[in-house]
Amino acid sequence: MTRLSLLFTLCLAVITASAQNKYGLRAVTLEEYRKSLRTQPEKELVNLATYIPGIVLDIRYATSNNFTGEVIYQLPRAYARKPVAEALKKAQADFNKQGVGIKVYDGYRPYKATVKFYEVYRDTTYVASPYRGSRHNRGCAIDMTLVDLKTGEELPMPTAFDSFQKEAWPTTPVKDPVIKKNRDLIISVMEKHGFKVNASEWWHFDFIGWQKFEVMDIDFEELENN
Ligand SMILES: [Zn+2]
Repeated sequence: MTRLSLLFTLCLAVITASAQNKYGLRAVTLEEYRKSLRTQPEKELVNLATYIPGIVLDIRYATSNNFTGEVIYQLPRAYARKPVAEALKKAQADFNKQGVGIKVYDGYRPYKATVKFYEVYRDTTYVASPYRGSRHNRGCAIDMTLVDLKTGEELPMPTAFDSFQKEAWPTTPVKDPVIKKNRDLIISVMEKHGFKVNASEWWHFDFIGWQKFEVMDIDFEELENN
């Protein structure tokens, strides 16, 4: 290696390292995201509140009512990539036929929030590893439950959202027939529309094909003010 090429390699290493965070993951910035939309419009982050009729939001990380006890998001928003939003819209129509609707706890999550969660609770059974990022960071995961369309009440489910108990696992047997029916309903309809339930969280659904979408670190304010 010549001295010049060694210098070049070193410079490149420094530039690459600066673009990564301390866990070595490269997250897409607002500028890169905007640029990617010119050739890949499917990567657009869609606001679920306007895209899906009747969807209810209860964005827990925009309040202190979440496992960190802190307000993580400055705005109560639920975004997802376009194909995810489209699939969720179809699921909502299906749920509506059965007298229920979707309530979203969380959608797209900026990468910095995943880092914060990990630093609060270092158990990667329940909290995504910052070395890999979460599927929420890719705009490809939805945390949700079901509500009764007439009353707006949440349907009884095995646990509350973000419970770190084994009862939250979709494979844990449920005695109560109503709770079992509700859990079966949310999972079966979501799986019919291209999602997969998380192994330790009945409320978390990954969009099948999430690998095509990069981890992003863009705040809701950045998305809406640019
Ligand atoms: Zn989740």
